[in-house]
Parts: sequence; C-alpha cells; structure tokens
Amino acid sequence: MNRNFSSRSAIGIDFHPLKTSKKLIIGGVQIPFAKGLDGHSDGDVLTHAIIDSILGVAALGDIGTFFPDSNPNYHKKYSIDLLSETVKMVNHKGWYLTFLDATIIAESPKMSDHIKKIKTTISSVIKINYDEISIKATSTNGLGFIGKQEGIAAIAIATAEKNLND
Ligand SMILES: [Zn+2]
Repeated sequence: MNRNFSSRSAIGIDFHPLKTSKKLIIGGVQIPFAKGLDGHSDGDVLTHAIIDSILGVAALGDIGTFFPDSNPNYHKKYSIDLLSETVKMVNHKGWYLTFLDATIIAESPKMSDHIKKIKTTISSVIKINYDEISIKATSTNGLGFIGKQEGIAAIAIATAEKNLND
C-alpha cells in the first residue's frame, strides 16, 4: 500500500503576569515560588503555548476559540485538562503528534529541577513518548518584564502527521 503522509509543524506562544498569592503551575507541575501566574484558568503559560501549537497543526484557531476566558467554566480548570481535550480535537481531524519542542522564558525560579517532571506530565497527557518531547528554559538576562520577574513566557512548536489514505 502506498504510504501517503502529510506533515505539519505549528507554533504557539503565550505570556502571563506573575502575581503574589497565586500558585505557580508550569506544564501541569506545581513549582515552589513566591509568586504564581495570573490569567486564563491556572495561568499555565507553557501548557497554553503547547495548546496553541497543537491547534495550529490542524489550523483550528487558538485557545480562546475553544476555551474562552469569558466562560467561567474554564476559570477553575487545570490547563492540562484543556490540553488533553485539544489533543482529542486534532486527533479527530486525523492529525497525530510526532514531536513537541518548547521553551519556557523566565528569570526565576530555575526550571532545570522541574523539566523532567514537566516532560513526564506532558508526555502522559498528549500521549507521545518522553523522548519525543523537548522542554527547555531560558531567561532574558535581566531584560524587560521577564527580567524584572513581572511575567513568564513560553513558546512551543508541535509537529504532527496525517495519513492521507485514511
Ligand atoms: Zn495563557
């Protein structure tokens, strides 16, 4: 049989402000820190960037299209649950993830101690192997709102394949 695959990669990017009295949740993992991220659901900036990248491979729109911040149902949800729903949506369109690469951009806390746990969590939710997920972290070397610890950003790129014979 003729194997006829289409492959796509798509990006997602997100930013959230850091506030006191909030839990810091990144990639579905709670990280001990004096501040946490404010905004949509639990403010999980990495998971939101990943959701947008995954929606991008199926050209479905962005996180606000499916999980609008104006809908109170999403305020108390964990973003990682929205990620799980997102994967089902793109699978339904015939797209299956093959690789995910992402970078967290934060001045502090240091992410290196948490990367393995984040990768394990994301791997179990999006159902691709641990080795097919790359999560990195960088800082802005003190520059701008991230350098002042006023916010954290994340960028992600998802790659997916679709079997055109299906
Ligand atoms: Zn967000």
